[in-house]
Amino acid sequence: MIEAAYRHHQIHARYLNCEVAAPGLRDAVAGARAMGWIGFNCSLPHKVAVVEYLDELAKSASLIGAVNCVVNRDGRWIGENTDGQGFLLSLREKVDPSGKRMVLLGAGGAARAIAVETALAGIRSITVVNRDCARGESLARTIAENTSAQVEFVPWDGDYRIPGDVDVVVNATSIGFYPEIGATPRIDFETVRANMTVADVIPNPPRTPLIRRAEARGCATLDGLGMLVNQGVVGIKLWTGISVEAAVMRRTLEAVLRII
Ligand code: NDP
Repeated sequence: MIEAAYRHHQIHARYLNCEVAAPGLRDAVAGARAMGWIGFNCSLPHKVAVVEYLDELAKSASLIGAVNCVVNRDGRWIGENTDGQGFLLSLREKVDPSGKRMVLLGAGGAARAIAVETALAGIRSITVVNRDCARGESLARTIAENTSAQVEFVPWDGDYRIPGDVDVVVNATSIGFYPEIGATPRIDFETVRANMTVADVIPNPPRTPLIRRAEARGCATLDGLGMLVNQGVVGIKLWTGISVEAAVMRRTLEAVLRII
């Protein structure tokens, strides 16, 4: 996906996959620095551990507490988190988050990234809905203490009824991810209204039951493949300064994942 964008825009760079075991993380980061890399992505299990080898964190990465993208700025390694920024780019294609009310299902890594980024972008309120209360309350505290967004936590038991004044509903849980592709988050679909924008983080398969049911109720929808592509768009922009075409990357990803 990234190399398809490099080819399309004639960016003279490569994107290489490297398997790094946990004990080798420090040396891998030092190696990237020694080789003059412009940056790198890092995935699980390194998203938190990598922080101690970096020089600085962007504000959102610091609040999220995890880094998935590292950028070389004049020899200093800056940690970013592009998951939430990719979501925001997708969201803005449908609705401006400023002043809107959002229900966020989940409180894990993806939910933290989305909550922090939308709060910093001026969303009016976030209702965090999660099974595990400690996790949900911790995310709500992070938002309340560091942003101007209003936030509340609601424990998730039974089918959640979405309040009528909500603008954006996001599934940021792993419900619907392969192999449990038929699973739907427990919400009362009678409370899903046509004026709501419904987003799912699940990238594969992108047409989750939530997306299909929301479409059937007349909602605008955002799939997780768009978020995945857009975090790549954000990463390339951070590394090279170039805004690449998301459609080129999406087509490549769909071919690789055999999505028709
Ligand atoms: P985490 O393990 O950090 O969090 C998982 C979340 O899902 C928790 O809030 C958990 O609730 C909730 N959850 C899981 N199963 C259920 C269930 N049956 N009922 C209710 N809640 C449930 O995972 P991540 O946040 O890192 O990832 C979540 C999903 O986001 C993954 O499927 C991942 O593929 C996707 N993702 C997509 C990205 C994209 O670019 N499209 C980027 C990053 C992630 P609890 O706390 O109660 O256990």
